[in-house]
Amino acid sequence: MVDVVANWAAVEERISRAAKRVGRSPEMIQVVAVTKGVDIETITPLLTCGIKAVGENRIQDALPKYQGANWRGRVEWHFIGHLQTNKVRQCLEFASLIHSVDSLRLIQEINRRAVNMELPQVEILLQVNVSGETTKFGLAPEAVPVLMEQAAQYDRVQIKGLMTIAPFERDPEKTRPIFRNLRLLGEDLEEKGFPQFEMKYLSMGMTNDFEVAIEEGANLVRIGSAIFGQRTV
Ligand SMILES: *Cc1c(COP(=O)(O)O)cnc(C)c1O
Repeated sequence: MVDVVANWAAVEERISRAAKRVGRSPEMIQVVAVTKGVDIETITPLLTCGIKAVGENRIQDALPKYQGANWRGRVEWHFIGHLQTNKVRQCLEFASLIHSVDSLRLIQEINRRAVNMELPQVEILLQVNVSGETTKFGLAPEAVPVLMEQAAQYDRVQIKGLMTIAPFERDPEKTRPIFRNLRLLGEDLEEKGFPQFEMKYLSMGMTNDFEVAIEEGANLVRIGSAIFGQRTV
């Protein structure tokens, strides 16, 4: 059995140390507990530990979990996986933040569904493929301002920041330039200014590299295996 409460405390401690190394306040950093492959009974003990958000990457797994959790109003549910346009409606049923939007088509569909579902606003992040790895989803950094301009007319979609997934590195220090570049891109976009855009969240860092991400300015870290143990799926 994995002791999720002890793991949570260890993660919090590491976050705190990473933040302090660079003079940041640990309270500014929020954990999105990535619960893919984890059942709701496993998550429940964390409710008393200050967990605020869980992250899921597949709609078909997330929805029944969300519906089955009798505590669902107590944490936010975030969607962090690749989103297909035909799953947007289901996604909007549970997700209070979508980390992984990477096309105009998706923004259009989110806006259309938001109108249908009478949701005044949907908060999203744009996923950026900073490393340029061809196996990864996400926008090329230079495509982000273009998309921001195009997104302006879809006024139910609020862009609240940026997200990236760094390639796995045995030495997480190697991911630093990726995280730094995402932060710099965010600062640049903030300076330019776009409608419905606020540079509120920088979602970067996973189990392998969250400390480096925090040193580079992450305020949402998406952590799965450090809390729930190594996944078998
Ligand atoms: C699985 C996943 C994570 C968490 O990964 P760990 O290495 O287990 O912390 C974070 N972000 C995304 C998008 C994921 O799919």
